[in-house]
Amino acid sequence: MKPILDLNAFDVAATANLDARLASSVRRRSGLFGAASVLFYDHPLEFVRAEGCWLYDAAGNAHLDAYNNVPCVGHCHPRIVEAAARQLAAINVNTRYLHPAILDYAERLLATLPPALGNVAFTCTGSESNDLALRLAAQFTGGAGIIVTESAYHGNTAAVTAISPASFKRGGPPAHVRVIDAPRADSPDGSAVAAALASQVTAAIDDLGRAGIRCGALIVDTIFSSDGVYADPPGFLRAAVEAVHRAGGLFIADEVQAGFGRTGSTFWGFARHGVVPDIVTMGKPMGNGHPMGAVVTRPEILEAFCATVGYFNTFAGTPAAAAAGLSVLDVIEQEGLMANTHAVGGHLLAGLRELGLRHPVIREVRGAGLYIGVELTPRSDALATRVINGLRARRVLIGAAGRDGNVLKIRPPLCFSAVHADTLIAALDATLSALAP
Ligand code: PMP
Repeated sequence: MKPILDLNAFDVAATANLDARLASSVRRRSGLFGAASVLFYDHPLEFVRAEGCWLYDAAGNAHLDAYNNVPCVGHCHPRIVEAAARQLAAINVNTRYLHPAILDYAERLLATLPPALGNVAFTCTGSESNDLALRLAAQFTGGAGIIVTESAYHGNTAAVTAISPASFKRGGPPAHVRVIDAPRADSPDGSAVAAALASQVTAAIDDLGRAGIRCGALIVDTIFSSDGVYADPPGFLRAAVEAVHRAGGLFIADEVQAGFGRTGSTFWGFARHGVVPDIVTMGKPMGNGHPMGAVVTRPEILEAFCATVGYFNTFAGTPAAAAAGLSVLDVIEQEGLMANTHAVGGHLLAGLRELGLRHPVIREVRGAGLYIGVELTPRSDALATRVINGLRARRVLIGAAGRDGNVLKIRPPLCFSAVHADTLIAALDATLSALAP
């Protein structure tokens, strides 16, 4: 398996190939960040400003962003910038003081979720959200066992790295974690996906049981992004969630990637599958760049946890975060971004599939809304890396995913237009044609 941070990563050994100014910047950074310095592309990028779906370098060159999901309503959206700035200039304190903005935001956010999920705890990142979710599940169920998919990434704390198989460069998850296959639709109509997933979850529960570990939770990223993007058929999660519930475990929906309208037809990824999670975690797009995350759950689950240690997070849920979060919800609604995601996502999916008819290296195109995976054959990251760098040379930005790193990950801001989609398709066509033998 290819560790997630190695996908589409710049190789420092190639610094000498860069022009003098860029090489000096990379060396300076390597000296400061050391072994933890990670850059994208074989020719790293440096941007000075951004707007909508475009990123600009110092020379004014525009790059089409088909990768970044944090600026979900578009880079530097003036309404979010203005709302957060105005609040920062008025007052910004922690949540142990009353402020109406965070109450308004919490009400608006909870209204997008199933009514049973009545409480929210704010965090600053997806990692913090998942870390708290694991603690809630362990406390409520008394079970330490966690089931995850093979190339899942759920964040960077110690507890969350333990349930992120994609993070391991050596070894793998510890004894309380069971790893199951990604929900690959290998049967032609995808009908076997739900049954295969549920039977793997059941086997994992039994295996935990044999080791004397009770199942605490199944956690999935509901668009299976780092696994290689698996969306269909909708509903395939249901039987797996039922199996976990029968074993006394909880279902944690990690919505850091799929949430906030990304999949087009539903606001949350889990809703495509007709399931109600016990815990929902979120982050990335929530503040369009302002660091925000949240855990939403049933009151009794939070009560069990707060009877032992409780939860407070200094930088989470501040009035400025609430202002940013509220304007993100407003813009998604008022600019019709879910309808746009559905329409442009469908257009992009169809165009990429059409490309697949002419380029045999495209094995499958799949996804939902503006989350699309293009699986290349053979199953190795070498070709995907060349394609991603070929697109980067044509000023179109995408990423990689999947156990073998052979899936092109396309995940633009939700204001991506049909014209942007056509630009991406034409650039991919040109890149694949240039690589063909
Ligand atoms: N869950 C998923 C599915 C993610 O993709 C990520 C980040 N890529 C996280 C959690 C962690 O979020 P953060 O980087 O904000 O801690």
